[in-house]
Amino acid sequence: MAQWTHYTHSLFRVTPMSVFSQTCQCGECYWEVVDATPGTLVCCYCRSCQGAMKHLGLAETRLNPEGGTLIFQTLPDNFRMIRGTRRLKSFRMTPKGVVRWYVDCCNTPVANTIATAALPFVGVILPPDTEVFGPSRNHAFTETALSPVKQRGMARVGWGVIGRGLLGKLTGRTASPFFEAGHLRVAPELLSREDREAVI
Ligand SMILES: [Zn+2]
Ligand SMILES: [Zn+2]
Repeated sequence: MAQWTHYTHSLFRVTPMSVFSQTCQCGECYWEVVDATPGTLVCCYCRSCQGAMKHLGLAETRLNPEGGTLIFQTLPDNFRMIRGTRRLKSFRMTPKGVVRWYVDCCNTPVANTIATAALPFVGVILPPDTEVFGPSRNHAFTETALSPVKQRGMARVGWGVIGRGLLGKLTGRTASPFFEAGHLRVAPELLSREDREAVI
């Protein structure tokens, strides 16, 4: 399903082209992460990420045994939706929460973004067994992990989003398939209180 040719993850280092590619579960959609720097690999154990995966019906296959979601945070112009852009839909767990993108043919999660194009950011959702970036050195919100996980790299993850976003703005690397003319491609669905409480 996932295939990588090369990996590295340093905030500002530029490396030769590397490609991660993924086909959605039903095969209709296909996307790639190219030139995967600058980027940060993080495993997030927050309730919201766990709930989002339950909402998509994929908690069993897309969360790791501790309830973590593997995410590669990078600049959006590293991400390419090759096939199935019209299938991109999104939802939010809370009114100000991250925007969680998936393809509506089979509910495969794709990526998280923030609601504004002002800070270029994409967090590509990876299958939990993805090894091409090496082991995740960063573990976030581990207090809600299903079994004990040591928290690491929260500051690195947070500053990475800001530092990388500023770099993206400065260098004009702002193109994102999730935005059109500065606005989200489609308005995210806000989960109802009922739907949210069913998964959190
Ligand atoms: Zn699909
Ligand atoms: Zn999370």
